[in-house]
Amino acid sequence: LINLLLLVVVAYLAGAASAAAEVSSWLDVVPSEIASKLDSGSNAAARFATDYGGVTRAAYPAAVFQPSTADDIAALLRFAYCAEPPFPVAARGNGHSVRGQALAPGGVALDMAALGGGRNRINVSSEGAYVDAGGEQLWIDVLEAALRHGLSPRSWTDYLYLTVGGTLSNAGISGQVFRHGPQISNVYELDMITCSSESNRDLFYGVLGGLGQLGVITRARISLRPAPARVRWLRLFYTDLGNLTRDQEFLISLPDPTGFDYVEGQVLLSHQRVDGSTFYSNQAVDSINRLKGESNTIYFLEGAVYYDSPSMADQKIEDLMKQLNFVPGLVFSNDVTYLEFLNRVHNEIEKLSSSTVLLHPWLNLFLPKSRIRDFQVGVFGGILQNVNHTTGPILLYPLNKHRWNDIMTATVPDEEVFYTVGFLWTAATVEDWGTFDALNNEILGFCDQNGIEVKQYLPHYTSKLDWARHFGLVKWEKFVQLKRRYDPKALLSPGQQIFTTQV
Ligand code: FAD
Repeated sequence: LINLLLLVVVAYLAGAASAAAEVSSWLDVVPSEIASKLDSGSNAAARFATDYGGVTRAAYPAAVFQPSTADDIAALLRFAYCAEPPFPVAARGNGHSVRGQALAPGGVALDMAALGGGRNRINVSSEGAYVDAGGEQLWIDVLEAALRHGLSPRSWTDYLYLTVGGTLSNAGISGQVFRHGPQISNVYELDMITCSSESNRDLFYGVLGGLGQLGVITRARISLRPAPARVRWLRLFYTDLGNLTRDQEFLISLPDPTGFDYVEGQVLLSHQRVDGSTFYSNQAVDSINRLKGESNTIYFLEGAVYYDSPSMADQKIEDLMKQLNFVPGLVFSNDVTYLEFLNRVHNEIEKLSSSTVLLHPWLNLFLPKSRIRDFQVGVFGGILQNVNHTTGPILLYPLNKHRWNDIMTATVPDEEVFYTVGFLWTAATVEDWGTFDALNNEILGFCDQNGIEVKQYLPHYTSKLDWARHFGLVKWEKFVQLKRRYDPKALLSPGQQIFTTQV
């Protein structure tokens, strides 16, 4: 495995070196309008040579571009398109991809954070119930701006230090998707810069979930709703996966305003323990770990009820609890502000980044509901039972296909209810990363061999055949056509490894 990793690194270095030789020619003829914003120094390149995943190291860009305006980005893309040879450009949101998707080996890393020259580009319209946010803006800043008007976007990611352009290039999912759809279903307008003078409606839908392949998002108009004041945040424990998924599916079937406003869940493997530092009291930790001692793998459903009136929230929760099948007594709750709830993962991430954990070999899957039993037997009860050490949560919660718009590029399984399963491994060393990567491959291999048609979320494939299979024939053909129209020289977001040559 180490050899393999070295080979990967060497391959990147070799690629970067030969690309560097080629690019020096265009670096000599950079147009004056963008020259001052292009930094080809090694310090800048080093900062943009890796991502949150941490494994795709040494993928150095030839230069980093810091645009002040959307016009600067347009000028860069014009130059990239006409240069000989043309060079790739990757918009870099917050670099929170885990498989090099935002890197530009040998090309230009487009540092979106520079857009606006440090000015916040977020404008809330209370009357229109929308927010206009720059593609570079972090969702935490969008939330705080909307809250000042008593409003909030509807759909979230678990973690808010991600950019608007980055999550809209994927989908943006969390426990609100069952009610409001993913973030891409909550967008009214986009401003984009492409490598073409055309602009049609197909571009709007193509860019949403389009993995950065068709254009750079410089502004998104996002739908808002009134923000609640507070949130009852609950965790209900299960020893039986069937009971968990029955309850999750029941909850996501309830219309607004009945039911929870957020539904997620997690799997706790036999060797995984909860600790008292965040959600649980010490007494709760003892009860949960006692349950863990009795059962092998356990699960929890995570729910939230948004409220302004405490008595109404109490009543709603009491009514719902009677209809759920969790282990009696094993329900724990917190009462927090809406902002604290949405920003709940931030402290965890801060803690991790101050430790030695640097690598995140994550695997996120969309799993058709009809195969969840097979997946449980083969993965939670099979592959993962043979592993006595994992770190990082395993997410498991249902989504519903009718909240997704199939015209968009984002791709989900062909069943009304499907589960997101997120293996959010953390690794302290490259060897550790290799162990988790092998585990991910074993899980994917198991699905493949057993005809379980999972789709990867935040997908990572390296062959055209796998990408075509991921999208399915019809969507793939459409995507190729869009690419041909809006980025024919395949310059944008090369780190996704979808289109490696002229389309
Ligand atoms: P980057 O990683 O910088 O970019 C991602 C891709 O989009 C790249 O291909 C890049 O070139 C392209 N891109 C970036 N900006 C633009 C733009 N303006 N225009 C066009 N293309 C662009 N995702 C979820 O859906 N739900 C979650 O709950 C969730 N939680 C997460 C928690 C953590 C701790 C982390 C690290 C990630 C999480 N993600 C989640 C994944 C996250 O949505 C992706 O990493 C996503 O890529 C956003 O990250 P980013 O803004 O840093 O984008």
